Order: sequence, then C-alpha cells, then structure tokens
Amino acid sequence: MPAANLQDVVAEIAAEMKARDDRGDVATYIPELGRVDLQQFAIAVIEKDGTLTEGGDCDSFFSIQSVSKVFTLTLALGLAGDRVWNRVGREPSGSRFNSIVQLEYEKGIPRNPFINAGAIAVTDLILSGHQPREALGEILRFMQFLSGEDSVYIDKAVAASEERTGFNNRALANFMKGFGVIDNPVEYVLGVYFHHCAIAMTCRQLAKAGSFLAHLGQNPATGHSVVTPERARRINALMLTCGHYDGSGEFAYRVGLPGKSGVGGGILAIVPGKASVAVWSPGLDASGNSHLGRIALEKLTARMGWSIFGSP
Ligand code: GLU
Repeated sequence: MPAANLQDVVAEIAAEMKARDDRGDVATYIPELGRVDLQQFAIAVIEKDGTLTEGGDCDSFFSIQSVSKVFTLTLALGLAGDRVWNRVGREPSGSRFNSIVQLEYEKGIPRNPFINAGAIAVTDLILSGHQPREALGEILRFMQFLSGEDSVYIDKAVAASEERTGFNNRALANFMKGFGVIDNPVEYVLGVYFHHCAIAMTCRQLAKAGSFLAHLGQNPATGHSVVTPERARRINALMLTCGHYDGSGEFAYRVGLPGKSGVGGGILAIVPGKASVAVWSPGLDASGNSHLGRIALEKLTARMGWSIFGSP
C-alpha cells in the first residue's frame, strides 16, 4: 500500500472534525474555559525536516492547561535531576486528574508528575530559591524559546478564573504540605501552577515546542539540544503511561503514541523519530481529555502508520 500523503490526511481530518456533531463538553469548573467556542478544531504536524502541515483553526490561541506539565517536568529535571523522583512517582494513577485518594496511602507523594498533585509538587521544585514571578517568567520564556515565538502568553483571565475556583487543587497542595512534600508557601506554589496552566498558544506553537521530544531531545529546527536522548525517551514513556489520566490506557490502545492532554482541549502527541503533533478541540470526554482531539490522532496514526507499536 502506498504511504498516505500527510497533507491530504490532515486536510481530511480537519474537515471531518469541524463537521462532527459529537464534540464533548467544555470544562466548566474553570469558568473562563467554559466560554470557549465548542466548534473549534485545529491540528498541526511538524516533521523532522521542519515541514509544517496544519488544518482547521490554526491561528486560534488556546489554554494549554495540563500540557504545560510536560514542560515543567522538563525544566524541573534540568534544575534538580533525579531529585524530582524523591517527591513524585512514575506510575499511572488510574484515578481522575484531580484525585486526592492515593495521596493518603502514599504519604503525600503523587503517583506521577502529570496528575494535578504531581504537577503541583514539580512546580514547587521549580519555585524553590525564586520569587513566584521569576519562576513563572522562566516557564513562559522556556515555552517561547521552544516554540520560537514570543507571542506565546499567559492568559491572565484564565489564571484568575482558576485562582477563584481552584479549591480542589488547594486541598491537594495543603495535603501534600502536611506530609512535608511541598517546601514553599502553598499560595505561591498554586499561583505559579495556575498561571503556567493558563499559558496560551496555537497548535503550531505547541507542536514546535514539543519537537525536541520526537528527536532524542534535540530540536531539529534549531539544532539545540534541550535534553539528553535518555531524558527525552523517559519523558515520552511517562507521557505514554500517564499523559491522559485515567484515560491513558485507552489513548495508548487507540492512538499508540506518547501524548499529554489538558482540560483546555489540547493534546501534544509525539511520533518518535518522525514528528510532533498538536491537536485542539475544547470539548472533553469523561476523563477530561479532548474528545475530537483523541479521535483525530487515532485517525492520523492509523492513516500514516505512526503507532509506536508497529506500522502496516
Ligand atoms: N489547571 C487545571 C487543573 O489544575 C489543569 C487540569 C488539566 O488540564 O487536566 O485542574
């Protein structure tokens, strides 16, 4: 069978996703996200040679929410190395993204860096020795550097919206603080966490930012080594096993790629050695992952033979 043409496949997926009626539901627990237009869909694929293939609402900025956790983990590993693993595990949780139950059994140590509790613990590491404003500036500059675009920004309305309603995250952070897992004042840590979740970017920018994970830690566009090949492999492994909360198994089964989702409806997916892919559709499924984003990636990997578990 001749290899499918990526441009045709992306155009077909974008047209189908724009037209579908089953779109999931926007996250309303962060009121500002509840206002996003459900009809939007975008996809961007960056291949190793830098070729960009886009479809749908490619110029729309969206709230990356938990996709930021891939980048905060990368920063924390750069700052603290394996000390990160003293305060956060590497196992799938099988629980909801904001679950508190396992924290009690595991002495305040979150199961992995991609559930809310784990990402809050990682944010605490990045904050140590800095003012919240400095830590946040570092995270934002990292995203601008990786995407090569200064227009990546923090949506202050989204951050304020979550700051007003983030009672569950406050509970998680205080619970961990009680176990001595959080060093800094809880409100500082949460302030940085809410703001990095509120980073806004386009699919093109997100795909570019994730490109280093597809190419053994090196951004092929700039030649810049962001992390070692070993670290890139390990971050991908965590994305595969833990990147979609209690829907991680289903995502691996259907899509077959390392990926990380956010409740803004974005997903970053990595095709090792080939491409970095970002999709966005704000309607979510029951696990809090983009409904059409996942379907679009399933179609993309099937048509392109990109599953890491084997191609036709
Ligand atoms: N800021 C969101 C929260 O803490 C992120 C959740 C997500 O994207 O999955 O609830």
